[in-house]
This record gives sequence, structure tokens and C-alpha cells, in this order.
Amino acid sequence: MVSTGRIPHALLFSGRAGLGKMQMARAFAQYLACENPADGDSCGRCPACRQAAALNFPDIQYVFPIIRRKADKKEICDDFLPEWRSFLADFPYMPYNRWMDAVNAGNSQLTIYVTESARILHHLSLSTFSARYKVCIIWLPERMNADTSNKLLKIIEEPFPDTIFLLVSNEPGKILPTIFSRTQQINFRPLPDALVSSFLETEKGLDSAGATAVARLAEGSPGRALESVDSHVEAAEFRNLFQDIMRSAYARKMTDLKKQSETVAAMGRDKAARFLSYTGAMLRENFVYNLHRPELTMLSEPEEAFSARFSPFVNSANIRQMSQAVGEAREDILRNANSKIVCFDLLLTIMMNIRKK
Ligand SMILES: [Zn+2]
Repeated sequence: MVSTGRIPHALLFSGRAGLGKMQMARAFAQYLACENPADGDSCGRCPACRQAAALNFPDIQYVFPIIRRKADKKEICDDFLPEWRSFLADFPYMPYNRWMDAVNAGNSQLTIYVTESARILHHLSLSTFSARYKVCIIWLPERMNADTSNKLLKIIEEPFPDTIFLLVSNEPGKILPTIFSRTQQINFRPLPDALVSSFLETEKGLDSAGATAVARLAEGSPGRALESVDSHVEAAEFRNLFQDIMRSAYARKMTDLKKQSETVAAMGRDKAARFLSYTGAMLRENFVYNLHRPELTMLSEPEEAFSARFSPFVNSANIRQMSQAVGEAREDILRNANSKIVCFDLLLTIMMNIRKK
């Protein structure tokens, strides 16, 4: 497309999550910006390439779904650029749940709000910085509300010269049909299991048997395969840490609790919040287990092995205080309170309550 100079005004990269559509969009935009492209790829070294790779090239604009909360005063995508940059760096396959964590969405839906269309217009009306093209990459156009879609449609209908829209969609069927019909769709197909499997071996150091097993469940999506490996690793890490903390709390080992609270704080905001969600869930599960209703619990085998002995210590005398403390600590961490202090405080509260009967 680029070498023939016939680039559609609006391209739609579609396909299930985790196929690398955004990586392709970024590579495409960088290729258009590159000062010394060769052999069908960008050089990766020129200033434009470096800026594009660092997500601060002025002629490449990103639009993505966000959450609006009065308390945060974050209104538009630009307000989320720090989160967006680290998300793309850490999760190039764009797992949606991780983005929800990154913007602290809780159970709220993410949306591309109508104010973004004004921002897109403004950006397109500025003269190009250095590149020939202005590129607007829209992640998940299916998350535009009706107002945004209609405004964007007007922009696409009356295109600015040398402007290219790259829409990256997991669910193209949910895009407004009038927008959809104005794009040229490139559908990304799932990869063969063998390819996903060898990708996992290189990327995660899995042995061939393990990689094959994970790949089989990933439905041709390398991103989904990565998430499944990561969540297994994280699940084991959370389980071990939770059990260690409960042992230290029961034995009143202050030095250990101090260290463990630092381990949680060092996870960073999002992961620490996930760990505390896990901790809250485990306390509830153990409380239910203690009611001798094991059929009501959702414990995994290694969790149940621990709970068989531990659960009597989570009872009606302490479940409320401990659950509440965990929930509050999680909220505090998400509000950027000092995690070290919050976590140590929480572990002390658990220690004070764990022997109550
Ligand atoms: Zn370059």
C-alpha cells in the first residue's frame, strides 16, 4: 500500500484480541513516519522512528476508551497518556482487562467519549510536524458511543489530506455501520497452534509440552496465551504469599510481616490491588469453608489443602474487621496512598484479629 502510494483513508484492523493488531498498527504508522524506510520496514533509528516507538511522535495520535471519574478530573485520552504508554510497553498484545486495571475502572465500562472527536479534529487541523502523514490510531472503535461515532463519521466523510485513520477492533460487528462501510477492512486470522506454542517457548521459556498445552487453549491468539501463562504464575505467587502472611500473622512474627508488607507494596499499584482482591476473596472463602459448607467454596486444590487447617481461624469474630481492612487498604492503594504504610498497617490488623474466636 505504502509503496504504491495508495493508502486507504481509513483502515480497519480486525480480529480477536491478542493477535498483535495494535503492534501492526504501530509498525505501520512508524513506517509512514520513518525518514529512511528500507526493505518494506522502518529503520528504527531515525528521530521519527524513535519518537514513534516511545509513543510521543506528534503526527501519530492515539484514541482509546477511558473512564471518567469526577474525583480524578481526567477527561480525555491525553490525561491517561502515562498509563497508556506503560500499558503498551508492558502489554503489547493489549489485554483489555489489564487496561481496565491500569485506569482503575473497577466494574465500570470504558468508553470513547464525544470530546475525543473535537480533539481528533484539532489534532488533524494542525500542520504536520515532520512526516507526510498524520495518523490517528483508534483502539477499540466499538467502544465509541453514538455521539462520538457520528462526529467521527463526519471527519472520515470529509477527510483532511494525508490523514490516515487506523481502527483497531476486536469486535468490528459493533462499529457503527456507516463508519464500518467507509473503512478498508484487514482481518487478522488466528495463528496456528504450533506457531503460538513456539512463540511461548521463546517468550516465556516454557518447555515444549507446557507450551503446547497452553497454546491449545489460546485459540490462535498469542496475547491470550501470554495472559494465561502470566495469570498462572501470578496465581501461584499470590497463593504462596497469602499463606505465608497468614502464618506470620498467627505466629505474630512482626519482622516477617514487615517484609511481607514490603513485598506487596513493591508490586506496584495495580498488582498490589489485585493481590488484596485475592486476599479478600480468600478470607471469605475460608470463612465459608469454616461453616463446613465446602461445596460453596471456589478453592483450588492447593488452596483447599491450606484451608483445611487454616479456615477455623476465620470466623464470625473476625471476618468483618479483616475483610473491611483489606477492602480499605485496596482502595487506599488505588488512591495512591503510601503502599508500604498501608500494607504494614493492614497486616498488623490481621495479626490483631486472627486469633479471635
Ligand atoms: Zn526511521
